[in-house]
Amino acid sequence: MVNDILIEAKDLSVYFPVTKGIIRQRRIAEIKAVDAVSFFIRRGETLGLVGESGCGKTTLGRTLMQLIRPSSGEVFFEGENLCRLKEDELRPIRQRMQIIFQDPFDSLDPRMSAGEIVAEPLRVHQKIKGKRLREQVGELFKVVGLDPAMSGRYPHQFSGGQRQRLGIARAIAIRPKFIVCDEPISALDVSIQAQIINLLEDLQTEFNLTYLFIAHDLSVVRHISHRVAVMYLGKIVEIADRDALYRSAKHPYTIALLSAVPIPDPYVESTRERIILKGEPPSPMALPPGCNFHPRCPIGVEVCQREIPLLREVEENHWVACHLV
Ligand code: SF4
Repeated sequence: MVNDILIEAKDLSVYFPVTKGIIRQRRIAEIKAVDAVSFFIRRGETLGLVGESGCGKTTLGRTLMQLIRPSSGEVFFEGENLCRLKEDELRPIRQRMQIIFQDPFDSLDPRMSAGEIVAEPLRVHQKIKGKRLREQVGELFKVVGLDPAMSGRYPHQFSGGQRQRLGIARAIAIRPKFIVCDEPISALDVSIQAQIINLLEDLQTEFNLTYLFIAHDLSVVRHISHRVAVMYLGKIVEIADRDALYRSAKHPYTIALLSAVPIPDPYVESTRERIILKGEPPSPMALPPGCNFHPRCPIGVEVCQREIPLLREVEENHWVACHLV
């Protein structure tokens, strides 16, 4: 259903110029951080976005929010093309989109108390003040599992998990519809990760939130995602419903990533065969011709070196970019 879609990227590309020269800068190359990517996220859905670091996940998340403007392509949010809007027209729309960072410490002002941090978006965007502001901040603390009595403390006085809860409280303060969760648990202890995932799931149900959940491995997104997209060097190479992807991944890169996911059964785990990809990913400044993955692909054939595989629907709701699938 088309109106079921909250946000959609169409043929979205983000290229960063590489320049040389001190007085007169010359463009000598470009980094294709995101390259002709198309996908959508439904309302109330979590799309997991997985790939090695440097593959363009974070750039893609920020481009959806127009924090980075794309080189080409379009982003539709609630049917509106954000790429056509000027900065001042985007401002009210950005209130409906928020971001949760990997390390909230970097994004929380160390000179502001926790209460002030959570209050700021309410004060600035919704002009709430006084007793009502204090009440709403206290309520947000409770919603994310923090004691409102902690509102006078400063970010450095919180543990990593508590700081992430604070970042989440700030992100949901003005009731956004869409949140980019940019590796929100990668910097946390394993014991805390599940708590934050559960909190995000509870908030999704309570506030009908839609998430893009970015992570660098498939084990992290399994629990929270409804669908999963796998990214390699700026392109989405596979996207499918979560269970279909974990049961029958089709792209050789996804299969290799899945082979690295530990299995909780000790017997099955002892027989797990890990696929080690040869070499490192090529530089995004000098991508190989044809399929980006061909220098490392264990099953590549001649055509892979010449032709870029398009993302095709190979089964219902299961899209893959590979000549051999
Ligand atoms: Fe491997 Fe070729 Fe498929 Fe690329 S298109 S993933 S190189 S088989």
